[in-house]
Amino acid sequence: MNRREYLKNTLGGFALLGTYGMGQSLASAAATGAITGLDSTYDSGENKYTLPRLAYAYDDLEPHIDAQTMELHHSIHHQSYVDGLNNALDKLAEAREENDFSLVKHWSKEVGFHGAGHFLHTIFWEVMSPDGGGEPEDQELADAINRSFGSFEKFKEHYIAASSAVEASGWGILAWEPHADQLMMLQAEKHQNLSPMVTVPLLPIDVWEHAYYLRYQNRRGDYVSAFMNVVDWGAVADRYHQARRVLG
Ligand code: MN
Repeated sequence: MNRREYLKNTLGGFALLGTYGMGQSLASAAATGAITGLDSTYDSGENKYTLPRLAYAYDDLEPHIDAQTMELHHSIHHQSYVDGLNNALDKLAEAREENDFSLVKHWSKEVGFHGAGHFLHTIFWEVMSPDGGGEPEDQELADAINRSFGSFEKFKEHYIAASSAVEASGWGILAWEPHADQLMMLQAEKHQNLSPMVTVPLLPIDVWEHAYYLRYQNRRGDYVSAFMNVVDWGAVADRYHQARRVLG
C-alpha cells in the first residue's frame, strides 16, 4: 500500500472518530457513506481491531523521534491497546451471552481506556511525516486556526504549553468541535479523561513517557517542540475536511 492509499484507508476509517461516540459515529458514517475502508484498524472478517501499518519506517522521523522509541511504541504499546480493546469487547459479548453483567463497569472502563488508546495512536501515526513541519498550506485549515487561536504562532504556543502540561500520562489534542465549527486545544489524561465527547481529534500528540523518554528523558517540552517538525499538516487538513463533511 502506498502512502496515498494508506491515508485514504485510515483517514476514512475509525481513526477519524477518536473521542466521538462510537455508535453515533457509525450511524453518521452509514448515513453519509463517507467513512469507508475500516480495514486498516479493524478486520471485519475477524471482527477484531488491528494494529495499523505505518506509512514510513521507524527511523524516518529521526532525529526528532528516535527509531527505538517508534518501534517499541508502535509494535508493543499500541498493540497492547488493540489487544485490550478486543479482549474487553469479547468479555462484554460473553456477558450478554451469559446474562451476567456483574463486571460491566470494569469492562466498560477497559473499552474506554484501550479504545481511546487505539484510536488516538492510529491518528498519531497518520499526522506525522518525515516531510512534516512548517505551517498548514490548506487555506481553510489555516483560517480556522487563525479564527480559533488568533494566529498560527499563538496556536503553536498554546499547543506546546497544553501538551507539555498534561498531568502524568496523556495527550495534547487539537480538535474540531462541530457545533460551533471551531478548533479547540484539549488535554486528555490517560487516553480519554478530560476530553469533551463529540470533538474530533485532528492533531494528537502522545505525551506518555513511553513516547519520548529514551531520547528526551524528563524534557517533555523539548519533545513537544520537536514534534512540530514532523507534523503532516496535509494529513491534518484532510482530517479537518473529512470531519466537517461527515459531521458538519
Ligand atoms: Mn503511546
